[in-house]
Amino acid sequence: MSDVRNVIIIGSGPAGYTAAVYAARAELKPLIFEGAITAGGALMNTTEVENFPGFTDGILGPDLMDNMRKQAERFGAELVTDDVTEVDLEATPKVVKVGDSTYYAHTVIIATGSQHRKIGIPGEDEFSGRGTSWCATCDGFFFRDKDIAVVGGGDTAMEEATFLTRFARSVTIIHRREELRASKIMQDRALNDEKISFVWNSEVVEVLGDKRMTGARLRNRITGEEGVLDITGLFIAVGHDPRVELFKGQLDLDDDGYLAVAAPTTATNIPGVFGCGDVVDHSYRQAITAAGTGCSAALDAERYLAHLA
Ligand code: FAD
Repeated sequence: MSDVRNVIIIGSGPAGYTAAVYAARAELKPLIFEGAITAGGALMNTTEVENFPGFTDGILGPDLMDNMRKQAERFGAELVTDDVTEVDLEATPKVVKVGDSTYYAHTVIIATGSQHRKIGIPGEDEFSGRGTSWCATCDGFFFRDKDIAVVGGGDTAMEEATFLTRFARSVTIIHRREELRASKIMQDRALNDEKISFVWNSEVVEVLGDKRMTGARLRNRITGEEGVLDITGLFIAVGHDPRVELFKGQLDLDDDGYLAVAAPTTATNIPGVFGCGDVVDHSYRQAITAAGTGCSAALDAERYLAHLA
């Protein structure tokens, strides 16, 4: 077979681009499929990123991703702005398809990220970065002394709400039911926090505002009654879906549906296939942790290739 790549990387968020920088500097000439619509990954949808080390004054999400892309290109990474549509990872060499085009590689690095679940209400997307958020660690800092709310009833929602009390004046947890799904310890922590209050049996039906968010319209699911909660931030914590669809049936997933890797390495159950970033991570979900495991994946691929030689 004439053209078998050393490394194909699927995904172009912080994990994919970091893997690309490392693989390119190791002269492995990686080929990266960046994704068609979502090239650059999750940070393309945000404004200021203040917690990526090295940028004292913060940096805009799209600028950070553009820098990473250019850095990968500078060392010879080949970038293709397309979606991978099919893979055969058990074949030798491994097969990666993009529509009618077929590519072959000795190793594949998967960095397809995860998608936060949306509620699907008017204003949710419109106020992203101007009120609505899916990440307390990322955005909590912007809500000092503000009244804000968290949607959800699981561990993540309780954790986000408790964390947000460090900054906010008040945090209202809005939950669709009368009982929380969260573990007892997380529930107790939130229930006993004097900054946190609860609105039960209710859902958010609309995010309100003009330039920035000014409130949320809530509906009681039992009485049907509607009212407006005056808040300037709404943190949506109703879950994430790792992008694993392409790999189901080939790669092992963990109990939460994320790609299973033999941590602290990035090795999956198929030799030569590595996973990094949010597609393997249900704990941290940060740009820097994604970049960190992207680096590990490239080094793991490099070591694997050295053994093949
Ligand atoms: P992603 O960035 O999600 O990238 C996944 C990539 O996979 C995309 O490029 C996509 O195009 C590609 N892809 C998927 N399927 C395919 C396919 N079939 N073929 C080809 N490509 C594919 N973190 C911070 O540390 N600080 C912040 O301030 C911060 N703010 C955030 C704000 C918002 C609004 C969001 C949503 C997240 C924020 N995060 C922040 C979290 C951070 O963005 C993620 O943790 C990080 O982007 C994960 O990186 P990743 O490379 O694993 O995945």
